[in-house]
Amino acid sequence: METKKTQVAIIGAGPSGLLLSLLLNKQGIDTVILERVTGNYVLGRIRAGVLEQGFAKLVRQAGAGHNMDTLGEVHHGVELAIDDKRVPIELTKLTGESVIVYGQVDITRDMMEEREKRGIEAIYEASNVQPHDVKSDNPYITYEKDGVKYKLECDYIAGCDGFHGVSRKTIPDELKTEYERVYPFGWLGLMSDTPPINDELIYAKTKRGFALASMRSKTRSRYYLQVPLTDKVEDWSDEKFWEELKKRMPKDAVKNLVTGKSIEKSIVPTRSFICEPLQYGNLFLVGDAGHIVPPTGAKGLNLAASDVATLYKILTRVYKQGDKKCIEQYSPIALRRVWNGVRFSWWMTDLLHNFGDDKDFYTQRMESSELEFFLNSEAGKKVIAEQYVGLPYEDLE
Ligand SMILES: Cc1cc2nc3c(=O)[nH]c(=O)nc-3n(C[C@H](O)[C@H](O)[C@H](O)COP(=O)(O)OP(=O)(O)OC[C@H]3O[C@@H](n4cnc5c(N)ncnc54)[C@H](O)[C@@H]3O)c2cc1C
Repeated sequence: METKKTQVAIIGAGPSGLLLSLLLNKQGIDTVILERVTGNYVLGRIRAGVLEQGFAKLVRQAGAGHNMDTLGEVHHGVELAIDDKRVPIELTKLTGESVIVYGQVDITRDMMEEREKRGIEAIYEASNVQPHDVKSDNPYITYEKDGVKYKLECDYIAGCDGFHGVSRKTIPDELKTEYERVYPFGWLGLMSDTPPINDELIYAKTKRGFALASMRSKTRSRYYLQVPLTDKVEDWSDEKFWEELKKRMPKDAVKNLVTGKSIEKSIVPTRSFICEPLQYGNLFLVGDAGHIVPPTGAKGLNLAASDVATLYKILTRVYKQGDKKCIEQYSPIALRRVWNGVRFSWWMTDLLHNFGDDKDFYTQRMESSELEFFLNSEAGKKVIAEQYVGLPYEDLE
């Protein structure tokens, strides 16, 4: 077995792992990333597209913000539509903040290129990645690459390996609590090279189910439909998708809809999942490895970024000031923001989707009354806007 050494070993080269490695590199802290699949495979995953300013600042700090700032679109508002009634939520007017629409694929590519340029090591197609002795002062990871077995010795391990990774499984069952809510529907997404239906995103609640009109640029649209979990992508031709979207988007928006051939179509299950704690010895769970949310509030990727921000501050303090004790702050600080994001995503998901017979008539009436209350009040809209643009990042003690 060949032995290698680094200060912080990072499992997973998704947005969390790449962002953390770039930030730590700026502080002179050495990292090695181990990724199970190829870089192209990572870039093939079409996912999030709405970035909070907190995330955008981190990406700039990491030295990978140039394309985001030149090609990304700053959005000052979003719309909620209840049947045909469109309600603008003026983010900047209500909060002074905005969001940036820039795809996860693009931000990942930018960070990959920056990593390569700066010579930060990443080992793609590393198999059987396994953390060991994470409670000790000498943790290490074993993995295989091209049939050769390796041992990577390190001080800390950042588990940035997504929901299905190995890091979370390293924490013994009796020491963690997992909270989960699985929703009885999925999101069918379609990407097309067509101009968006509207300048801002539209989140639409209708009796036929939820729909979202989103975008990646002025020429690329991303649309979603709430579908039963039993549906398969093959059940949805492009024509069928567009017809259903027309029935769910507000009528005066539909007249701007330009349809076209899909360039990607997929179904995402919707669920919330949170693991507590997010730290075990010298192992930290970051991003989807520790928590996932339904995409309704556009929070998944943004919560991953706030975890990275906290861990980055902690590891910088460890290496610059020798304060090893501060690692205990990671889980409580990260989880406070995570639970806020989980709550907002739950609220948006519950109120905007059609749960059919899963919700009794009384609950449905209460929910429409709650939505009406929020959307008819400046204070209510401000509460939505504050959460949509993202709560501030918490500092270390
Ligand atoms: C289909 C889909 C659509 C989404 N849409 C949205 C959206 O619209 N808005 C939003 O905010 N969020 C969305 N999300 C969530 C968002 O994409 C995630 O929150 C984000 O990708 C988290 O980044 P991450 O780096 O923590 O995890 P990931 O992106 O999952 O990256 C983890 C990486 O670890 C690697 N890995 C896994 N196991 C191992 C192992 N054993 N060894 C080595 N490497 C390993 C994986 O290959 C992967 O590259 C979506 C998620 C999905 C799945």
